[in-house]
Amino acid sequence: MVKQNYDVIIIGAGPVGGYLAWKLSQNGIDVLMIEEHAEVGRPFQCAGMVNPSAMKRIGAYDTVLTRIWGARMYSPSGTEIKIGNPERTRTWSVCRKLFDERVVQLAIGSGADLLLSSKPISAEVTELGVEIEIDVDGDIQQFLSRMVCGADGAHSWVRRTFKMGRPKELMIGFQIEVTGYPGEEGRLDLFTGDDIAPGFFSWAIPSGETTRIGNWTLPERMNDKSCEDLLESFMKSPMWKNRFSNCKEIGRFCGPVPSGLILKPVINRVAVFGDAAGLCKPTTGGGIGKGFDQVDLMLPKLVSTIISNQFNAKTTQELNATLSSLRRKQNKSRALRNVFLSESTDEELDELFSVWAQPEVIELINQVGDIDNPIPLGIKMLKDIPEFRRLATKGASALIWG
Ligand SMILES: Cc1cc2nc3c(=O)[nH]c(=O)nc-3n(C[C@H](O)[C@H](O)[C@H](O)COP(=O)(O)OP(=O)(O)OC[C@H]3O[C@@H](n4cnc5c(N)ncnc54)[C@H](O)[C@@H]3O)c2cc1C
Repeated sequence: MVKQNYDVIIIGAGPVGGYLAWKLSQNGIDVLMIEEHAEVGRPFQCAGMVNPSAMKRIGAYDTVLTRIWGARMYSPSGTEIKIGNPERTRTWSVCRKLFDERVVQLAIGSGADLLLSSKPISAEVTELGVEIEIDVDGDIQQFLSRMVCGADGAHSWVRRTFKMGRPKELMIGFQIEVTGYPGEEGRLDLFTGDDIAPGFFSWAIPSGETTRIGNWTLPERMNDKSCEDLLESFMKSPMWKNRFSNCKEIGRFCGPVPSGLILKPVINRVAVFGDAAGLCKPTTGGGIGKGFDQVDLMLPKLVSTIISNQFNAKTTQELNATLSSLRRKQNKSRALRNVFLSESTDEELDELFSVWAQPEVIELINQVGDIDNPIPLGIKMLKDIPEFRRLATKGASALIWG
């Protein structure tokens, strides 16, 4: 039985909304999750990669399809670099439907309520709290909460309703799921090139019996092509077509990848989380781990503010300040991505790959490389590898101003 009065109403029961609801409930906060779909975890647009730190926090190892410990990376002209160590798990490839369910189950297990097939119609911040009108499976109902949180994805209703601005970048990701891809056990494949994924990359990610093949890029880089066009020309290209000759498509997904934390994710009694706040990584597009990080960073201050029910300019400023380090890291990662990938021509990328292919550089990548935090590796490469020194000035100013 749901009530009409909660401490917090969370719009969106995706991974980040579920994680937020779990953490708040564990701290004695009364939470209601509102999910517009009839079930949790569908539809999804995701390659299903969950980094080890995010996975550890929820322990959903039963949702894992493949353990990923390495990668094969390809330059535009096909230079191959193999990185990784079977002893060290770099990321988990999961069933995203099950993963989202596990997170939301944790929240429910801690006392949070969930309404499916429901979405907000209006919300107004008053002296008492936030009055929200919700369409509950066709029935319009009124709710009151101390705070409303939007974990409602890239096109967040909460963010738009409360005019909270937009993430800096909005990439498009497209992906098909196939059988018959000749991958290497435990390794994912990354492909670069202007005609494949301009400024970004394409991927082939093992996911149990199948492989997820996709690409992502910025719409303004696509020259009137769609992501489908790019993926098709990649899979039919003379260089790569043999890889895909036995592939049979069994599903396709397309979705936005918002990256660039909005200026104020908290305004008075309203806050946005995860994709709604623009938290996807500029380097890989991953959003689940960063959404969890955001919740953990904000949690102590969030809990005390909700319990005291003191929402004012000072608490808004303090809550936003908890995200300064996350914002700085995201800006630095984008700057390094631009230097090493997005602002390189195919010829320059081929040159970079020829340096990366040197055994001592592969050794450095294996030692310092961290899918979750590429900044130390990027800086070390700019400093220590003579061939990259010419990028160092560009890299340094991008890191300072980026
Ligand atoms: C092709 C592609 C591949 C990707 N691959 C990865 C990857 O491998 N790893 C990774 O970490 N990230 C990946 N991402 C990004 C990842 O999917 C998101 O960052 C992640 O899902 C964000 O979680 P979230 O909970 O913030 O939002 P979402 O997962 O979008 O969840 C939002 C929830 O809110 C609900 N909702 C939305 N609006 C309303 C409303 N008005 N009322 C009620 N409910 C609402 C939705 O139904 C949904 O359940 C990928 C994205 C794309 C497009």
